[in-house]
Amino acid sequence: MNNKKETHILIVEDEASIARFLSLELEFEGYKCIVATNGREGLEEALSKDYALIILDVMLPDLNGIEVLRRLRQQKQTPVIILTARDTVMDKVSGLDLGASDYMTKPFAIEELLARIRANLKKYLKQESEVLSLGELEVDTISHKATYLGETIELTKKEFDLLVYLLKNRNTVLSREKILDVVWGFEFYGNTNVVDVYIRYLRSKIDDKFKISLIETVRGAGYTIR
Ligand code: CA
Repeated sequence: MNNKKETHILIVEDEASIARFLSLELEFEGYKCIVATNGREGLEEALSKDYALIILDVMLPDLNGIEVLRRLRQQKQTPVIILTARDTVMDKVSGLDLGASDYMTKPFAIEELLARIRANLKKYLKQESEVLSLGELEVDTISHKATYLGETIELTKKEFDLLVYLLKNRNTVLSREKILDVVWGFEFYGNTNVVDVYIRYLRSKIDDKFKISLIETVRGAGYTIR
């Protein structure tokens, strides 16, 4: 990935002049660019290929940038720099909350955007992938990919977090309260039934699908994976 020619950047921007300007500047710097001109197309593109980075405008037709980011984060951790208008502090806040890596306020100097792209690419590439595996199940905590015998398992963010927590504590019985506390934390104040529900989701996507039994219920105590 040190070779910029291999670095693909997705630009999601509906204003043709800005999209064209950005893609010319980035191509000039040696990046490969793809432009999507509405939110829906941008999300599809972002999910179907592995981009090194995404530049995402917030004000977009079909699906706004914040919603694109929210849906993207359920499946992928691609670095995202959001482009916001000058007076929309809320977009900035919700964008960062949802896991945007950085933001730029329009209008911006291209040099600054280029500097942020470099910084974010470097930060992302520096993270080493951590692969947790159990039998044929492999989970990469950086790229957020889970596979069984090489076949991708589509998981939502919560399902993924739950699976990672179980794998990191394999052979240990984890109570529902403990799981709720670690995986849901402050976002959730409900009862522990939600844990059972998500364990069911994981079982149907892993145990049932691949005819194995990794996730065990320990009566009266909780769950474990082994
Ligand atoms: Ca726009």
